[in-house]
Parts: sequence; structure tokens; C-alpha cells
Amino acid sequence: MQEESTIKDIEGRVRLTFLGGFNEIGGNCILLEDFGLDITLLIDFGVNFKRFHEVFDREEPSTLEELLTARLIPRPRGEALKNLYTEHYLYNHEKMKRHQKVNQCKDKIDPSTAINGAFISHAHRDHYYCLPLLNRNIPIYTGAVTHKIIIANYDSRAFRMDNFYNGLKWKLFITGDVVSIKGMEVIPVHVDHSIPAAYGFIFKTSAGILIYSGDFRMHGPLSYMTGDLISKARRLLNAQSSQGNDASASKSVPRVKALICEGTHIHKGAIESEAMVKTQLNTLFKKMPFDYVLVKYERVDWDRFRTFSTIAKKFKWKYLISEKDAYFYYRLNKNARYATMKNPHIKKDDHIYIVKDKMRKFPWKDTINAMLEKNNKTWRYLDHDQLKDLGGKFILYITSMPDYIFNNLPKDLNGVFISSNIDPYVENFRDNTRSIEKRLLKLRVPSYRVHASGHAKPHDIYTYVMELNPELLIPIHTEHPEIFDKLFTGKGINVALSSSDNEPFQVDLE
Ligand SMILES: [Zn+2]
Repeated sequence: MQEESTIKDIEGRVRLTFLGGFNEIGGNCILLEDFGLDITLLIDFGVNFKRFHEVFDREEPSTLEELLTARLIPRPRGEALKNLYTEHYLYNHEKMKRHQKVNQCKDKIDPSTAINGAFISHAHRDHYYCLPLLNRNIPIYTGAVTHKIIIANYDSRAFRMDNFYNGLKWKLFITGDVVSIKGMEVIPVHVDHSIPAAYGFIFKTSAGILIYSGDFRMHGPLSYMTGDLISKARRLLNAQSSQGNDASASKSVPRVKALICEGTHIHKGAIESEAMVKTQLNTLFKKMPFDYVLVKYERVDWDRFRTFSTIAKKFKWKYLISEKDAYFYYRLNKNARYATMKNPHIKKDDHIYIVKDKMRKFPWKDTINAMLEKNNKTWRYLDHDQLKDLGGKFILYITSMPDYIFNNLPKDLNGVFISSNIDPYVENFRDNTRSIEKRLLKLRVPSYRVHASGHAKPHDIYTYVMELNPELLIPIHTEHPEIFDKLFTGKGINVALSSSDNEPFQVDLE
């Protein structure tokens, strides 16, 4: 305690506490305390799904305590983290109905907290799962499209603790905005990843420029955006050096003080790209001996959805998705700010068919039904038992292989399965690709894997770090931080590594 108050008196000192996501992939959560500016921020608020699945199998946690006991979320220790979690908005879905909870927490105010804001880099749940647990006084800063994906995703799911979003305070930005909080400027920069609207952040702290890479790749359709972060950081540093008053200071350009860099694939690379996925699919479809295709990828991977939809359109195949998927994509299409988010287009793209399921009634089913009726397109609705009668030439998007799909696949036709999964740790379901492949073999359905990751390969991470040339590099979102140490030590870049997997890891910048 004594030591903490001494630190607070020092201007230009910043402390980073890594509460999750170090020495592991996913579950990023970083506390940034700038004692010079008297500001405390949270960067990402995810959960590690690998450890999550060791505790929770098919069931979902329904209390904060379950997650704390399993050490999946940070313990609210110390002044900075006091009242990190909400007191009034925790929804135990096993004990009450959602509307009861909504009524119960109406106008309730959470206790005060030292945290001035939470920055969420992108809409992968290993970066934002914990938001429903957050103290409602803490504003959440995130991209407008990120917010849209998060809300669309949760609106198309059953109500649980992990999607009780009532009372959260959202502050949305778009590329080009500068967020200003208590004198600190934060510049969100769009980067390329396997989901739309992924951001890296540049924090202008009192100790210098701090960069958080977020998750990124340099081989997707928007790879130039990752380069934007590098050039923006350079411009800021150049501006800082020209602001220096004395002549000697104006000559030396300051360096990035610290870079928190993701390293999912620092240990394992592949020559791959979204463009290559498209080329490979083209090759498969040009001479296609199979009558129908089953595909699997992350639902939030808009690029992959577009790639498959484009192939279906080009080869005049039907593209079949579920009502839930249709609703999710329809929500993203609506009032889309960017043209890329209107392709595919659920309302206009007539090669997209919507397969009804026989499961319980959800509000999204009414929305999709009303949309199709209004546009005289109910002919785009199919039942699962119609799969047999389509005569092939369809691509069916699946996330699992339940009986109602399996039993309705046309047994007299030849099918093929294309697994195109992006990285499995972003969502809280187990990777079931192998079990789908096994089950499909009973129908004599072979499998392919056509894939491009959402993460940069070792070459690209190396270039990214060298171009930013930080004084200090802190690897995150990786199981192999030691490779960063080996690569960059001796190149004028210090690498901070944590010696413990379990205890929060602290780094001071001065
Ligand atoms: Zn991600």
C-alpha cells in the first residue's frame, strides 16, 4: 500500500497489469494505470476458452463466483480493481426469467470504481466475454461495427448470464476518431483480422506512446489497414519530435515506449491468404464430382462467408444457412456503414436460402419470416426434409451435425465436407470438426480443409515489430512468448516476459 501511494506521486509513470491472455491464447485483459494523467483503463475483457472448457463442458456458468473460483476472470484485488464487477446486473439464468431481471435492475446504480473506461478491440469473445459482468459505471469504448456484431450475436442466442447487456454504457468510435479521456488521447486504428471492425489502439500515455496490437493478420483483404497502424504511430512520433523546443530534441524522433503485441502464430506459420482460400475453392468447384457441399467456418468471419457465397453465386449453387445465421447477417447488413458489410446481402442475394429448424421459437425467426414475406421471397425458405429433394448443387453452412441435418442429407447423392474453420479459441464451443468428419464418413462423405488464419505468420509479426521498433515489447495472446525474446533481444528491443502463468504480471513504463 505504502509503495503504491509513492508511485502515484510520480508523473509520467504508467503501470500495465496483465490480468489475462499472457502465456496463453485468448482471454486478454490488461489494466493500464497512468499515474501522471490519473487515469485507469481496461484493455479487452475476454476469457480464455481453453481453460473455460476444462471447467465448463456443455453447461454455461450462471454466477460470477463460478468464474472467479475457476480463476477464469480477474480477482478484483487492490484499489484499481475495486468494484470492477457489477453489483446489480448479474443475471442468473438458472434462477429467474430475463424480464424479471430487467425489472429488478431498473435504475440501479453500481458502486463507484477507479476504472475510467474499457477498450474492446474486436468482437471475438476471447476479447469481450466478460462485458456483462462489468460495473455499469465503466464506459465501454469500441468500434461502431464491433458493437453491432456483439449485439447481433447476442440477440440471436438464448438468454444467459453472458449476454445480459442491460445497463452497459457504450461509447462508439469509427476509424479516424480520436477518443479523449481525462487528457489521454487514444487512437483506434482498424486492422485486418478474421472479423470485421478489428482495432489496434495507440495510447498517448504520460510515459510515451503505448501500442496495443489487438489481433491482426497481414494476409487478408484489408491487410493495408494493419499497415495504417504503423504509419499512424510513426506520424505521431514525428509530430512529437518536431514539437520539441530545443534543436537537439527536434533531431531525434522518440520511439514507441511499449508495444503489446499478439503472437498467436509466432511459433507456427503458413503461406495463406483469404485470396488463396478463394482460389482453392474455385479449383474445387471447377471440376466438382460431388453433388452437394457442407461447409463450416466461424459465423462471425464475414470474409469467409463472402468468399463462400461468391463461389456459390458464380457456380450457380444454392447457399443454405440457418434462420439464426440469416438473422445475424441480416442485422449486420442493416444500415451498414461500409460497402463490404452489404456483401453478401441477406435480403437481396437470391442464391442464399434459409433453412428452418424445428427447434423452439425465437424472436429472430419472426424477423426473418417478416422480411421474406414483405419482399415476396418466402420461396427462399426451406425445411430440412427438403434437402433430399433439391437435386444437389447446394452448399449447406453448418456449425455442428445434429440428427435433423444428418438424417435429411440426400443419401443417393455424393457430398463433400469443407472445413474452413478459423481459429477455434475465439468462441465458447469446442472444436467439433473431427467429430463431424467422422460422422460424415458413415455417409461416405470425404473432407477437405481450406483455410486461412486470422493471425499474422512469424514473418509478418517480425516485420510489424521491427517497423514499430518499440523500446519494450510485451507478447500477448501466445503460448510462445519466448520466441519473441529470442527474436528481438539484441535488436535494441527489450522483451518483457512473465515468469508465472497464474499471477498477474506487471510492467512499469517510465
Ligand atoms: Zn480475434
